[in-house]
Amino acid sequence: MLPEDEYNQKLVSNVHPADWVNPTPSGKYNLVVIGAGTAGLVTAAGAAGLGAKVALIERQFMGGDCLNVSCVPSKAIISAARAAAAVRDAGEFGVNVPPGTEVDFGKVMERMRKLRSDLSPHDSVKRFTALGIDVYLGQGSFIDSSTITVDGTLLSFSKAVICTGARASAPPIAGLDTVPYLTNETLFSLTELPKRIGIIGAGPIGCEMAQSFARFGSEVYLVESAPGILVKEDPEAADTVRQHLVRDGVKLLCCGKDLELSPGKTGGVRLQVKSEGKGYDVTVDRILVAVGRAPNVEGMDLEKVGVEYTKMGVTIDDKFRTTNKRIYAAGDICSPYQFTHAADFMARSVIRNTLFFGRVNHSALVIPWATYTSPELAHVGLNPAEAEKRVIAIDIFTQPMSGVDRAILDGETEGFARVHVKKGSDKIVGATIVAKNAGDMIGSISIAMTQGIGLGSIANCIHPYPTQAEAIRKVGDIYNKTRLTPRVASIMKRLIAWQR
Ligand SMILES: Cc1cc2nc3c(=O)[nH]c(=O)nc-3n(C[C@H](O)[C@H](O)[C@H](O)COP(=O)(O)OP(=O)(O)OC[C@H]3O[C@@H](n4cnc5c(N)ncnc54)[C@H](O)[C@@H]3O)c2cc1C
Repeated sequence: MLPEDEYNQKLVSNVHPADWVNPTPSGKYNLVVIGAGTAGLVTAAGAAGLGAKVALIERQFMGGDCLNVSCVPSKAIISAARAAAAVRDAGEFGVNVPPGTEVDFGKVMERMRKLRSDLSPHDSVKRFTALGIDVYLGQGSFIDSSTITVDGTLLSFSKAVICTGARASAPPIAGLDTVPYLTNETLFSLTELPKRIGIIGAGPIGCEMAQSFARFGSEVYLVESAPGILVKEDPEAADTVRQHLVRDGVKLLCCGKDLELSPGKTGGVRLQVKSEGKGYDVTVDRILVAVGRAPNVEGMDLEKVGVEYTKMGVTIDDKFRTTNKRIYAAGDICSPYQFTHAADFMARSVIRNTLFFGRVNHSALVIPWATYTSPELAHVGLNPAEAEKRVIAIDIFTQPMSGVDRAILDGETEGFARVHVKKGSDKIVGATIVAKNAGDMIGSISIAMTQGIGLGSIANCIHPYPTQAEAIRKVGDIYNKTRLTPRVASIMKRLIAWQR
């Protein structure tokens, strides 16, 4: 964990203390959990809290990706980039900032490291030991369907849960193996702002980091093979984000073809790519590869216990069971929804299914997600293309943010809240929001979907004025207006006339 400053030392002392001595197992465990990222921590803590005898095995850092090399450091950086953008745009609000105000990238990264180390006690060996869990630091691998070894120590189990997550993997890019490059595992060790950075892949990570580095002052080249960014999202929503990235100075090279990397003549990396008919040949100081994830299936001897996997990860059924009925899985290792909150909820379901004969289904989870660009793009449920594939006819209702007072006052009028309902009803099947705090706003749609609250009923929930979340209530109003058919309108008119 670099640099080895006081913050990273504190972090490591919490998540992988050098002087840690593994406990000696005493009898059979109800549950052995391999991997102490979000999925593993939640599984272990929840099961131990309910009285189970639990062992937790981690080969690197407790907290896994989220704390150490993904959500936490990336969001700390994004908040600094937002501050930089607010200062840059302050003039629009009548606030004059002295010219020459600049970003101190070293301080940005130090702040991130401090916040990450401040959060680390929560995921620490000390805390999980205090919860009554036997924490083993080392590589876990199966011996048979009731035994796991951690560096030679044998743990016997009734049930095991694989929570080993995923890692950055090198995609097939010509010349990638000839140049140094960053992934999420090394990006957060930077201490100096790259003057020019090439980012490969305009998915959530690529877009979040491209915008942030552009706001810090880097010259950013964002290379994407598809015609646009965030290709899994509502195209109009993704395009709104695209416009903001470009406005922030990101040089977006979509439809990227013949991408080739090679060592720069005088240092750095030469990046050659054809984008929309034009050839680009630039030398950048750093390359960030933000595409490609590989499941951590190696080294566990899964074959010995008949746990099947593909290049997407461990195969599970709808009850989170692997192909060995005593072994379950949760988190990035087995799910296409690679998010911390998804790992968390899969873990909660696994506890019920393993210990309490629960019957929680993976397919029943309503999993929202958000990309933390400015504006944020959040989604839950089906989009129109998925609905069509499943032969579900939908109606779509959209409230532009330009019609929401708070968005106007904030100067954040681009974006919208869009809700998809089952045709002819108000049953919500999905939603997309592009707005400043879309990630927070999507939560209320998730509540509605989980609890079976219709879009019409959302219109009856009072939202504080002025808030951007009023956009959601307004979508409900739009839906309710469609119910005012000429026949209903004429009945109401007659009723009102009768009261005169
Ligand atoms: C840059 C970036 C930003 C992200 N931002 C967000 C975000 O804002 N919000 C969000 O919801 N998601 C975000 N994600 C996704 C999120 O990080 C993951 O979905 C989440 O961390 C998955 O948790 P997990 O427990 O499944 O796996 P991990 O966190 O990967 O944990 C797996 C653990 O298992 C250990 N392990 C593996 N094999 C073994 C073994 N054989 N023995 C012992 N230990 C083993 C690993 O060392 C690791 O600690 C982001 C991802 C990236 C890359």
